[in-house]
Amino acid sequence: MHAVGIVAAAGSGSRLGAELPKALVPLAGRPLVAWAVDALLDGGVAEVVVAVPAAERAAVAALLPERVLLVEGGPTRTASVRAALEAVPAAATAVLVHDAARPLTPPAVVARVLAALAAGAPAVVPVLPVADTTVAVDDDGVIRETLPRDVLRRVQTPQGFDRAVLVDAYARLAEGAELTDDAAVVRAAGIAVGTVVGDDRAAKITVPQDLALAELLVSGR
Ligand code: C5P
Repeated sequence: MHAVGIVAAAGSGSRLGAELPKALVPLAGRPLVAWAVDALLDGGVAEVVVAVPAAERAAVAALLPERVLLVEGGPTRTASVRAALEAVPAAATAVLVHDAARPLTPPAVVARVLAALAAGAPAVVPVLPVADTTVAVDDDGVIRETLPRDVLRRVQTPQGFDRAVLVDAYARLAEGAELTDDAAVVRAAGIAVGTVVGDDRAAKITVPQDLALAELLVSGR
């Protein structure tokens, strides 16, 4: 198996309130995208393609190892991954798609995803159980339904795919379609997606408090 990683790093990060695009925001002095690339390489991925904001291409190139390929991202995460997928080297038999916004993902999570692919899974994602009671609400905020917590999972990245399966699923996806992750893209193509155990340290950095928590985790390492 020859696994190539894609890092989606072309988001604006407006919810983080930073001046910089989110992928360039520093965590313990290093940009989030550099942490995410390292997590993939440390976990066993051979090469990495990063989708970056067009205006930041040179800035990101200066921060990453020379062998990392850069492509310009698109207006949505789906468009950014689609662009990166086109740049995945021909030798790849598996592709792992990861969010730059998950900098502290332990390499063991990457390794679990790779092991599931090596065992023959066409698609696999890391998941965690839901601890809180989880509900669906109507437009007015009133609870419509309490969801059965025992079957709910929170989905993380990196999400791993057989390369041909992922390429085919993106080819079938309507131009301009916007899905929140890649598991949804392959499920739309009728492929079953398996799960492995995720990790709380792979949490996504979205709001300033998430970054503060990540700084604490790094300082406690
Ligand atoms: O916005 P959200 O936190 O869901 O973004 C998840 C990941 O997708 C982030 O790492 C972000 O950089 C990336 N993204 C992207 N291109 C976009 C929007 C988001 O690569 N247009």
